[in-house]
Amino acid sequence: MKNQTEDSQVRSGMKYRLLGRTPLEISIVGFGASPLGDVFRTTDPSEGRLAVHRAIDEGINFFDVSPYYGVTLAEERLGQALDGRRKEIILATKCGRYGSDEFDFSAKRVVQSIDESLKRLRTDYVDLFQAHDVEFGDVQQVIDETIPAMCRLQEQGKVRFIGITGYPLKTLIKIAEAVPVDSILTYCRYNLLMNDMDTILMPVAQKHGIGVINASGLHMGILTERGAPDWHPAPPAVRNAGRHAAAFCRKEGVDLSQVALRYCFDHPLVASTLVGMSTRTHVMKNIQALDHQVNPEFLIELHSILAPVYNYVWPSGRPENYG
Ligand code: NAD
Repeated sequence: MKNQTEDSQVRSGMKYRLLGRTPLEISIVGFGASPLGDVFRTTDPSEGRLAVHRAIDEGINFFDVSPYYGVTLAEERLGQALDGRRKEIILATKCGRYGSDEFDFSAKRVVQSIDESLKRLRTDYVDLFQAHDVEFGDVQQVIDETIPAMCRLQEQGKVRFIGITGYPLKTLIKIAEAVPVDSILTYCRYNLLMNDMDTILMPVAQKHGIGVINASGLHMGILTERGAPDWHPAPPAVRNAGRHAAAFCRKEGVDLSQVALRYCFDHPLVASTLVGMSTRTHVMKNIQALDHQVNPEFLIELHSILAPVYNYVWPSGRPENYG
């Protein structure tokens, strides 16, 4: 059996890794489809469609979406873009979160949710079905009701593998240790600003053979020239550190996003790093980041700019699920 951490093949410079113990070989650069739902800003749908096609042509085969992104808009647009190309990719979507304050982790909603998603995505199965932002639910319900309902969908062939997603590592671990899951997706927990995905989550995932998906390597926009959207949960100090880091990179003639993504792509145990994309330019830049050369001394200085806010964690979900 292939080691789940081993890069398994190279196509157009892209590398692929197994997602935990599943046979899914996913590209280490993953296409985060939330921007297609105009989550960060209004995007051009035809450019979004071309971005999806370019990504597939360049070897990105892992796409992640949710009914929550743009309140179904991202799934709708991704489904349109995948018309005729569905079989070329590994498709992940989610259930349980439907609005910023709208959650339903009941078995009944899970069953409805997959059918709605399949319709919008214009397919009859998804490769990975994930309970979305589990920290906003009753953890016991997720364990006793949500995951078992997802497993029944697996038996019906509507979903191939199941996973959980969220921000507090403690809650993700609690669920994964109580009920078998194929993957854990967490976000803003491993990048130039954070490393606790590596120290806290990864050892548990490795022990149980669970695939780890690292999302938001750009810290949801903080590690970009443009900066974070207004809704970003990080406090001003973290946003300011991102601005200083961007200014430092600019002065050195370096693109902060390229450095930030290369840093994430280099983690050998992460199956895929999801980056939010909706343009061909970003697709190409983010693939090029795989080969972006980073001067070690420059990286030390960049780390020192971000050090005062390193590993800052904000509260997310129900108070009993923080952490
Ligand atoms: P991200 O850190 O990937 O940042 C996305 C932002 O960066 C967007 O504004 C995008 O336009 C911009 N961007 C992308 N490439 C760029 C480049 N080369 N230069 C400058 N700007 C660039 O944040 P994200 O989109 O939230 O996370 C990635 C994906 O991970 C999401 O789309 C989603 O699929 C997944 N995700 C899942 C969860 C969850 O399940 N709870 C949470 C967060 C993210």
